[in-house]
Amino acid sequence: MSTNPNLMPILTRDQARAIGSRFYFTNKTCIHGHRAKRYTANGHCVVCNDLHNAARPPEPRASRSPSRRRSRQEIRDANH
Ligand SMILES: [Zn+2]
Repeated sequence: MSTNPNLMPILTRDQARAIGSRFYFTNKTCIHGHRAKRYTANGHCVVCNDLHNAARPPEPRASRSPSRRRSRQEIRDANH
């Protein structure tokens, strides 16, 4: 239950930048209600980013990779 892979210790964006981390985490929810880590580069919630990517039409090659699709589904399930 407490194994959400998107959670991590509190790390401000400035701290993340200072240590060169790609992600930071403030324990605040994003505008869509996800409490997940965010990209240091653009401040986007990783769940929103993933959902955005999943909403795109799959590339022909990607559609032949069922394991990748399954992992997307698990990520979605873990946050609902
Ligand atoms: Zn989000």
